[in-house]
Amino acid sequence: MAYDDQNIFAKILRGEIPCDKVYEDDHALAFNDINPQRPVHVLVIPKGHYVDVDDFTANASDAEIAGLFRAVGQVAKQTGVTDDGYRILSNIGVNGHQEVPHLHIHVFGGADTGPMIKRQD
Ligand code: 5GP
Repeated sequence: MAYDDQNIFAKILRGEIPCDKVYEDDHALAFNDINPQRPVHVLVIPKGHYVDVDDFTANASDAEIAGLFRAVGQVAKQTGVTDDGYRILSNIGVNGHQEVPHLHIHVFGGADTGPMIKRQD
């Protein structure tokens, strides 16, 4: 899928739409989800234009990939979820129920995050 630079996270990156920033460095921006599903629910996004994990792992530089995951670790530390545990998740495409077509890693914590995935039986 081609990157749509009108997606909501692209607008946040350009400063056209505000966000509640948690962390920022050269490679990544992290901000609170607008509809939090747990007491801690942060979205960590690369600054580069990547649709999803497929696009990112195929096309991003090693520095961008390392930078995104270091930012996830930094956000976990900064939000205080490391002691009790937390979950990271990235939705991809239709089966993954991805809503925003700019790669994002959800960081959920501050409460039990429930089963890994909805059971089918
Ligand atoms: P997805 O289903 O694509 O993995 O999740 C997209 C996430 O982006 C959702 O959790 C949704 O609440 C969040 N979101 C959508 N629009 C905005 C927005 O304008 N600002 C923020 N902070 N989060 C948003």
